[in-house]
Amino acid sequence: MDPFPPTTQQQAVIAHRSGNLLVFAGPGTGKTETLARRFAALVAEGVAPNRILVLTFSRRSADEMRDRVLLRLRQSTGSGLAVSELFVKTFHSFCGRLLDGGDARVRSRALLTPVKERLIWRRIMRSGLLVLSSFDAGVTESSQFATDCLNVIAHLKGQGVTAQRLTDLARGDVRLADIAQIFTLMEAERARGELRDYRDLVNEAVVALGDERSAAVRWLRDAGFLHVLVDEFQDSDVMQLHLLEAMRAVMTPVPLFCFVGDVNQSIYRFRGASPGNVAAARVAFACQTLPLRDNRRSAQAVLDVANADASLDRDSLTTAADPEKRGSVRLARPHTTDDEVRAIRDAVVEKVVAGTPPRGIAVLLRQTRPYQELISSALALAGVPVAALPAAGFHEDVCVDAVLTALRLLATKEDERLWRRLLANPIVGFRQIDVRLAFDAGRRAGMTDPRAMLRSNPPGGLRPISDLLTAWKHCGDAYLKATPFELVQTIIYELDLLRPVREGDPVSGFDPNASPLRLDALLAAAQDYSEGTGAPVSAHHGSRPDVVEFIARLDETVGLLADATQPPPGGTDGVRVMSIHAAKGLEFDFVVIPRLIDGILPADERPNRLLTTRSIRTLTGAGISVFLGGDEARREEHSLWYVALTRSRKDVLATAARVDDEGVDLELSPFASAIAHTAGEAREHIEQDASLHGQARSHTNDRAAAAPPRAIRLPMDTLSPTGVSAFIDCPRRFFYSRVLRLPADDDDATRYGQTLHQVLRRFHEIETDFEHVGHADDAAARYAARLREIVAEETAATSADGEGTPLARFEREDLGRRLEQYAGRLAAEATSEPFSVLACECDVVSPFGRVALHGKVDRIDRLAQGGLVVRDYKSGRWHGDLVTVLRRAFERIDGGDSIFGDPPTGLNLQTILYIPGVERAFADRVRRLDYLYFRGKDTKNSALRVDSTMVAAAGEGDARSLSPAEVGRVERDIAARIVAMCSQGEMSAFPTAHDERQCRFCSFTRICPGPGAVA
Ligand code: SF4
Repeated sequence: MDPFPPTTQQQAVIAHRSGNLLVFAGPGTGKTETLARRFAALVAEGVAPNRILVLTFSRRSADEMRDRVLLRLRQSTGSGLAVSELFVKTFHSFCGRLLDGGDARVRSRALLTPVKERLIWRRIMRSGLLVLSSFDAGVTESSQFATDCLNVIAHLKGQGVTAQRLTDLARGDVRLADIAQIFTLMEAERARGELRDYRDLVNEAVVALGDERSAAVRWLRDAGFLHVLVDEFQDSDVMQLHLLEAMRAVMTPVPLFCFVGDVNQSIYRFRGASPGNVAAARVAFACQTLPLRDNRRSAQAVLDVANADASLDRDSLTTAADPEKRGSVRLARPHTTDDEVRAIRDAVVEKVVAGTPPRGIAVLLRQTRPYQELISSALALAGVPVAALPAAGFHEDVCVDAVLTALRLLATKEDERLWRRLLANPIVGFRQIDVRLAFDAGRRAGMTDPRAMLRSNPPGGLRPISDLLTAWKHCGDAYLKATPFELVQTIIYELDLLRPVREGDPVSGFDPNASPLRLDALLAAAQDYSEGTGAPVSAHHGSRPDVVEFIARLDETVGLLADATQPPPGGTDGVRVMSIHAAKGLEFDFVVIPRLIDGILPADERPNRLLTTRSIRTLTGAGISVFLGGDEARREEHSLWYVALTRSRKDVLATAARVDDEGVDLELSPFASAIAHTAGEAREHIEQDASLHGQARSHTNDRAAAAPPRAIRLPMDTLSPTGVSAFIDCPRRFFYSRVLRLPADDDDATRYGQTLHQVLRRFHEIETDFEHVGHADDAAARYAARLREIVAEETAATSADGEGTPLARFEREDLGRRLEQYAGRLAAEATSEPFSVLACECDVVSPFGRVALHGKVDRIDRLAQGGLVVRDYKSGRWHGDLVTVLRRAFERIDGGDSIFGDPPTGLNLQTILYIPGVERAFADRVRRLDYLYFRGKDTKNSALRVDSTMVAAAGEGDARSLSPAEVGRVERDIAARIVAMCSQGEMSAFPTAHDERQCRFCSFTRICPGPGAVA
């Protein structure tokens, strides 16, 4: 049975055969699915799949459509199809195919990439051929001038305007004449290199279709398409509509056209999209119209606000398919912009704590600078994972970062900071702390050469440092001799940057879908430079000029490759903080729309930086629109508000500060009136005061008043003595693992501890009687043999290949040695102070004020002479006896210091916190607390170390024993304080650790601002 049967409206689109069709498809109405089903229905009726042409505007949409069509075909026909049998294409790739006349052999057209375009631009600017009279020399050298000028030229080409036509129009207009001059030279250089950009492909295809004898016309007729489906038609430009008209004019038989579009979502006018094409096509192709109105994505509460905008096209508006779906749209008015950022942070944290996955949340900005960074940082500081920023996604990709760092390091030679960055890259794989220690030790020894420092203090990593340094030498050779392309290739090979793909090994920051493509883009850019920069750059360090130029312009190149209007890769986790443009086609449970301020959303109309008023008038008079202004600009703003709202499945929070950074009042956006004026139970209008955690001051309904924003809360039944210790070591790590409940990796360090605990639990479940052990040596041998057996069984169970990594093998042998010592100590203790084991891994509840601490005690023994011993196994090393370290901690507390995140080394409090629960459960007094440190003292081969603390009864004991008053202080001054901090709902309760050694095995290093970053 079909889990999503088509709605009546979808079925009408799928079945329509009587003439050309224009489908008004609003957000969430399943247009891709409907087109895919229409495709499958046509095939089921006998139309050959290769007689159906589907055109989309982006590769992402084409891939999605192709997958959906293949799925529906498989379901309806029961058999699969090769992708090559389908014509699901972007406009540009289809035009390339047309121009080739369908001949695959000529399909090696050189594309004018943005990097090549910049190289040509620089060549022209350096050529001396340009004589610009309306621009200063300083302006023309700027990167912004290049961007603006190339944008205008691209818009002109999108409307079919040639350099010659612009030259003709420019008579008497010096500014237009200057641009025409640049346009002419750019076109000449492009033609000389036989390069084409996407717009050239469309323009050339239109020209070719006007020639009856062209290969394009012949191929199109042979292809015999019977149906043409065009997706997202509101994003088409003028020339793309001309292309479709030209195709129809030469095709016999004339196919049926089906256009799908939604002018309300037309947010690419700024790039030259012409939503007027939708109305134009309706007339030109005599289309019948059908709507898709059932919105399966958003709650009606969200749609009511979105649809309230009177300027929207009513034909494409939608209603919720499930009227019962709950949702809300809230407006918050924090006082300042800082308050606004904090309010957004708190709203997001609240959702995450309530169970919304971070990737189900988006913060959508009209203007990304500087709020994208501010909000992302605030969220990261609050411990909420944030997906790499769209543009930064490229920079932050671990593969790209490794190549860029390597290139910069080659150019600057021995920069220690770059070495650290390169070696700590997760793919290159050296331990950050080891690398830092190696450099520190090297510097202390008076060394200056980073490679010598690394050699003499080799850091641990995925490969020996000597291997890495040999590989680095090959990179250095390539830097001196190779082209930019060969150099990047060498770096990728020598640093083994594709290891995660080859080994299928998940690496933090590596996206198996995006990272190889990004490396590919970087290689292509290097190839562009290898083909000649035309730059008279003098050689540097003996390397080639093109390599020097390539490295010198890395930032610009990466800026061109990273598209800020693209969302972060789908596979990455974290809250999306991005532009509204980047969110097109995506959906989220919770959407935040910051800065709902008049002048921001809607944005003020801004004058074009390049064109004068006169130039714009000249162009407009000639029917050419290269500058979005007036009504068009305003309509785009309405569409952006509509798109932002309709990304939400359930809840929307719009925010607008009352005053700017200088205290000037900010005017609320006219769009906000839709939130205040739409009535309904599921919508709320909140006036929020400036205080960060302030309660909402007024609400439009009682239900909202009953639900003030929730602060961060830790359910106290999850707090345990181990949790108390974890909090003391790093409150931020505690927040990630116990409040946000983010999964922690099972790293080597914790595996050692887990195996140790498991082995001892199994051993002491069998061996409980240590009062009647007989001869100590025999007992020790017996215990050691039994422990060896259990270790072998446990490590075989946890290591899939029976051997594991070298580190795992080492730790297994180490564990065996320690347990051998433990067996001897056990037998000796049984002789001197007999005892019996009462319980292993015993659940204990310690009542403590109004809170109960739940935890597991490793072992509880009863001494033959009376009283209990609590034992705790430690896989780490001993750093000082409990009483001494505890008293040091009390001194710090008494001096007004916080120990949270910065405790005295070796402060372990679990056993003390267990005392009340153990005494209650076993109706006896705890006489002693034992920590067994299986890695002994802080030296390489030290023996098992036991830290025993006597617990004194009231009025007894000596200076070395723990007094009842001290037990009370642990509860009162430490545990109770943690409970209070966790309960108060402030992020300031969770500072990061002070000492970076805490971070060595931490799973949250990628999302954490780092040790010492948050006090
Ligand atoms: S990386 Fe360090 S500071 Fe951050 S959570 Fe982990 S241990 Fe704490």
